[in-house]
Amino acid sequence: MTARSTGKLDDLVSLSRSYGHDPQYVLLGGGNTSMKDGDVMYVKASGHALGTIAEDGFVRMSLPCLSDIWTKVYPQDDSAREDAVLQDLMDCRLPGETARPSVEALLHAVIPYGYVVHLHPAMVNGLTCGQSGEDAARILFPQALWIPLVKPGYILADVVRRAMAAYRASHDDTPHVIFLQNHGIFVGADSPQGIREIYDAVMKTLSDQVVRRPNFTTVTVDADEIAKIFAGLRMFAGEDADIRMMMNVELETKLQNLESFYPISSAFTPDHIVYSGFKPLWIDESVFDAADTAAEIARRCEEFSEREGVGPKVVCVQGRGVFAFGEKASLLFLDTVKVAVFSETFGGVRFMDDDMIDFIRNWEVEQYRSSVLK
Ligand SMILES: [Zn+2]
Repeated sequence: MTARSTGKLDDLVSLSRSYGHDPQYVLLGGGNTSMKDGDVMYVKASGHALGTIAEDGFVRMSLPCLSDIWTKVYPQDDSAREDAVLQDLMDCRLPGETARPSVEALLHAVIPYGYVVHLHPAMVNGLTCGQSGEDAARILFPQALWIPLVKPGYILADVVRRAMAAYRASHDDTPHVIFLQNHGIFVGADSPQGIREIYDAVMKTLSDQVVRRPNFTTVTVDADEIAKIFAGLRMFAGEDADIRMMMNVELETKLQNLESFYPISSAFTPDHIVYSGFKPLWIDESVFDAADTAAEIARRCEEFSEREGVGPKVVCVQGRGVFAFGEKASLLFLDTVKVAVFSETFGGVRFMDDDMIDFIRNWEVEQYRSSVLK
């Protein structure tokens, strides 16, 4: 990385790591942070985990250049627009910077505080993914902004920018807390201590409200049946597939039937879609009546792949357990379960709508494609 005054980022690095290490706040290093210093914003680069981030995990960007983005006209077409904005974001990096800024860099830039910490804590998402989350937020956090579900990237940053301007016009103040429906929270303050105080207060308020917490006590399972499920999943995904089984009191309740399964049957946030899939595959217990249970399980996985154009990342077998392909899928699916339980306090689950799920699925593909091409 280029020469930069050492020490300047110490506060941002330690603030980022402290949240990154705390599982109550961060899963898989997700979320992002930034600091503003005059005309320069230091924002997390894509692909760095908050818990282990160092100075070289931040990209320096020009704030005047970023604010010029709002004077431009972009294509209406989603992918043409996001490509153009991404190019402009890259062009707002200071000379010598080579890393790709977080996709949420534009949003960090429109929040006029020295420090911004954006996270997706399960308890917060119980609120942002709850049917009555918006009403609850108005009562519990009257000073906060609530942003409805909109397309991530440029559109989201623009909606936040306009909502901030409207708030400032009527309140003579700038909000420190922004809740994003089906996504997470942004907190801004002029010092790391300010950020910590706000997060502590938000989490305490939510914690005091929550009527039920997830019960992840493990339960015993029938080893023969589980072996058949593993055999079927390996038939589908290959002998070397990394398959993680999960079963606990909470899942046992959810896996009783399709109705009890509903709260964990779709996607809450972009991270869930990217890591644990846009929806899990439900397999009912009739597979155990089949002459060859393993082959029947493999067949159901194939059927899902053909229908959806992508294989399942998570397979839920009625009454038996949840099986995830890889650690990321398993961790994010457990997060789905937590969000579902926390949302019971806020009117029950509200998933992302299908259009938004499609947008994220396609967007992720585009992002991935461009990252391998570069
Ligand atoms: Zn986010």
